[in-house]
Amino acid sequence: MKCNKCDREAVTFIRYNGTYLCKQHFMEFVEKRFKREVRKQRLPHGILAVALSGGKDSIVATYLMNRITEKDDSREVHAITVDEGIKGYRDKTIKIARKFCDEYDIPHHIISFKDEYGFTLDEMSVLRGELAECTYCGVFRRQCINKVAKNLNAKVIAMGHNLDDVSQTILMNFVRSDVERMARMAPHKKVQKGLIPRILPLRSIPEKEITLYAYLKGFEISEDECPYAVRALRGEYRDFIMKLEERHPGSRHSILKSFLEIEDCLREKYPPASLKPCKLCGQPSSEEICMACQLIKKIRENSH
Ligand code: SF4
Ligand code: ZN
Repeated sequence: MKCNKCDREAVTFIRYNGTYLCKQHFMEFVEKRFKREVRKQRLPHGILAVALSGGKDSIVATYLMNRITEKDDSREVHAITVDEGIKGYRDKTIKIARKFCDEYDIPHHIISFKDEYGFTLDEMSVLRGELAECTYCGVFRRQCINKVAKNLNAKVIAMGHNLDDVSQTILMNFVRSDVERMARMAPHKKVQKGLIPRILPLRSIPEKEITLYAYLKGFEISEDECPYAVRALRGEYRDFIMKLEERHPGSRHSILKSFLEIEDCLREKYPPASLKPCKLCGQPSSEEICMACQLIKKIRENSH
């Protein structure tokens, strides 16, 4: 098949808009949406952090963030990688992240659970009690990234979430009647003291296209999945949305679009909780003791 925009051979067919695209026009298609999102979500001047796990989404997010700020003296991209301590998995992606930052000359900051909390995620896994690894991991990782970003005086943290991730989250919150959580989804428009706002520059690009973009760019990517990943609930939504998309191309975009339509009402109804420093660690928290400190207490108790 030929590209719809030129005479070259197509590398892909975009079902939801019915176009065949060659390598060059496909890459432009991805980059255009990235730029549009960044413009919409606003890019402040100063240091811009990117959460870089080393997976395909975060590699592409870091690459594009770096690319659009390359000739811009008022902005500088820094990558932040969290080492949760997951043997056989994270060590590999950290290596990829490090190599990538070296190659593109991007300042790279690595923060580890072991240094911050005294335990790797593998160690926590043994001591975790009834809570899943992802519960600990999510809370600690969010705190780690925010901490490094704050120390860097970063103005935003760009996350690698793609259209599939975002539409799954919206639908999941909706079905579970977790509207308040939906109101708290990034990108954050209000800056809260101590919390660096997050932006999602890839949120309108489907996962498959990000994978293809990374492949066409020749980026080294790991296909491995975290050994603690429980596909359970999110997996169900992933399968459901995939099926929906297959029968009704464009469904993921519609889910995001509907959310954007009601977003302002939601944020008005559920204004962000006021934050104060945690009494134990000083990190911003809506409670006296932050969630990370509550969780680490559990782990310490179980380790005795
Ligand atoms: Fe952490 Fe769970 Fe993601 Fe693994 S799957 S990196 S444990 S949040
Ligand atoms: Zn705390």
